[in-house]
Order: sequence, then C-alpha cells, then structure tokens
Amino acid sequence: MLFVISGPSGVGKGTVIQEILRRRQDLSVSISYTSRAPRAGETDGLSYFFVSRAVFEQMVAAGEFLEYAEVHRNYYGTSRAQVRKMLDSGRNVLFEVDVQGGINLRRQFKELRSIFILPPGEAELVKRIKNRGTETPETLRLRLETMRGEMLKAGEYDYQVVNNKLDACVEKINKIIDREIKLEKES
Ligand code: 5GP
Repeated sequence: MLFVISGPSGVGKGTVIQEILRRRQDLSVSISYTSRAPRAGETDGLSYFFVSRAVFEQMVAAGEFLEYAEVHRNYYGTSRAQVRKMLDSGRNVLFEVDVQGGINLRRQFKELRSIFILPPGEAELVKRIKNRGTETPETLRLRLETMRGEMLKAGEYDYQVVNNKLDACVEKINKIIDREIKLEKES
C-alpha cells in the first residue's frame, strides 16, 4: 500500500515518521531528492539525496521523477526508480511530500491513503521552527507563508492528525496504517 504524509514545516513530520518506521518493519520511506543545502545532522542518502539545482533540472528533463515541486525556493522530488524498487520488494511505501506532491501522487495512485499532520496552533509552530534554529528571518517568513497555504489543503487529505504529543500522534497514524492495510487485505 501507499501512504503519503504532509504537513507544514516545523510540525514534526520527520520525528513522527522516524518513530513510525521504528515500529513497523513493513514500511519503507521514499527518500527524496532536493536542491536544498543539507542542515546540520542531515546525511546524504538518508535524509535526502542532496543535488545541485542543475543536476535536479537534468533529472527532471530525463523524466526521473514521479513528481517534483518547488517548495520554499528549493526543488524536491520523488524518484521513480526508487519507488519502483520498493514496490517490487513488496513493501508498503510512505511518502513525505508537500501538498503539491500529495495531490500529484494521489492523481497517479488511486489506492494512495493520505494523512495530514496539523500543529496544535500557529504560535506553537513558529516557536518550534525558531527553536530548531535552522532558519533566517527571510526563510522563516517564506516557510510561514507556505504553511498558511498548506493548512488550507488539509481537508483534502483522508486523515488529519494533530501533533500535540508525539507518542499520541505516532500511535494514531500507526492505527490508521494498520486499519488501511487490513481493509485492503479484506477487499
Ligand atoms: P524541508 O526543507 O523542511 O526538509 O522540506 C520542505 C518541504 O518539502 C516539506 O513540506 C516536505 O514535505 C517537502 N518535500 C520533501 N520531499 C519532497 C518531495 O519529494 N516532493 C515534494 N513535492 N515535496 C517534498
């Protein structure tokens, strides 16, 4: 089965996904390509495949992406070859993409189930992004602008889960995945 998780910057998607992967051996996450510079602590090939804008554009031209989008002035894309490999190995696949990517993937895979992670509130989100210390005032402004647009799309996802407490959020998403896999097996 295919699952997509989206949510605004700073909502804690990365941590939630890491926790879900730790609990489930049946799920693989699709590692995206990006032209964004790595943050401290990010590893090439684990967090993302980091490439230059020029290489990314060559990959777009060669049709290597299932979907790609420009988010906060950087490119992000899902590799066609990588997804094919995961599906061939019989694993369930999880995508972590922005709302443009979520809509695009849903158009391509009707069996895709979508989950949107919501912050407890905008003020909390701003605090989390600031505490992360990865943004300049300009990139923070851009991220908040994008976030407001993304929140308007939350209703288009199959499920909305608030990330108030990490454990509770992970548990809810885990249950959603279990339920969807069970329903798929029964159908
Ligand atoms: P960040 O720079 O915080 O890692 O990610 C910024 C945004 O890009 C997030 O909303 C994330 O979900 C999105 N993103 C990451 N990978 C992809 C991808 O392959 N495709 C699309 N469309 N968005 C992505």
